[in-house]
Amino acid sequence: MKPAPFEYHRAADVDDAVAALRQADDGKAIAGGQSLIALMNLRLARPELLVDLNPLHDLDYVEPRADGGMAIGAMTRQRSLEWSALVAERCPVMAEALPLVAHAAIRNRGTIGGSLAHADSGSELCSVALATDALLRVHGPDGDREIPASEFFLGTFTTALAEDEILTEIIIPGAAPRTGSAYAEVSRRRGDFALAGVGCVVSLNDDETVRQARIACISVGSSALRARHAEDSLTGSRLGEAAIRQAASLVSEDIDPAGDLHASAAFRQHLAKTLTRQVLRTAAGRVR
Ligand code: FAD
Repeated sequence: MKPAPFEYHRAADVDDAVAALRQADDGKAIAGGQSLIALMNLRLARPELLVDLNPLHDLDYVEPRADGGMAIGAMTRQRSLEWSALVAERCPVMAEALPLVAHAAIRNRGTIGGSLAHADSGSELCSVALATDALLRVHGPDGDREIPASEFFLGTFTTALAEDEILTEIIIPGAAPRTGSAYAEVSRRRGDFALAGVGCVVSLNDDETVRQARIACISVGSSALRARHAEDSLTGSRLGEAAIRQAASLVSEDIDPAGDLHASAAFRQHLAKTLTRQVLRTAAGRVR
């Protein structure tokens, strides 16, 4: 099937993209097109105007920040991030998740900004943004604002972005000393969306107790989500097998998976719990 007719605007800069979106009744930014074009071909999306962000080369970068973190331009391709030495060094949980995003051909075009703005509940990069406590910088008619990842994903394919705002930058804060992370998922075939996936970032105090734990899950709710009950149960406890098992048992408090052709809700519950145990054990080993 082919898309419904639409107008096309090649953005000159971010302000021009915002102005074009503002003027249209139903405009959409297009980045890598790997999700949007599929939806348009299926006529599940029928924007009257596409605003092409691909000319905005100044949104394609990965830069170190003084706090040990990174700033990533929204138009950076997933494949560039996968190959980035800076990402591997400063955000290992992202480096671990990236090869699991779709297939290499899709990652060649797909952007980090597109993944986050699309907000598929099965998006690995959305869970990485949550697990790393990323800040998302967006640009709109009134200028820039920053949205914490924890407030960005609102539900099924829904984010805090206004219709005339563009996601421009993803800020990954530097990790505290004694931090470990891990990402794992289960999918039917390599490259498929995950049946469930979990990423975690855990920081320990000098006495080995957990200072902070962030656990983010995919494919078990309407969007990527934090397993807050599990996180809270870990804070202050020693990151041993008992605490890990207790935390994993609490993941069910925050997730609400749907059953479908690929997996039942109960199986996704089981996967989320098992994967949480797995990533917490791995992260604990990596801190030490
Ligand atoms: P586009 O498709 O161009 O845009 C997606 C949406 O985001 C649109 O609504 C668009 O308006 C909006 N948007 C894009 N950029 C911006 C911006 N800077 N500011 C504001 N709005 C913006 N993804 C996964 O995470 N995991 C998978 O396992 C996975 N498997 C896939 C398998 C297949 C077969 C396919 C086709 C896709 C798969 N994807 C998967 C999706 C893929 O990762 C996409 O690249 C990604 O979701 C969207 O990125 P994009 O740059 O292509 O965005």
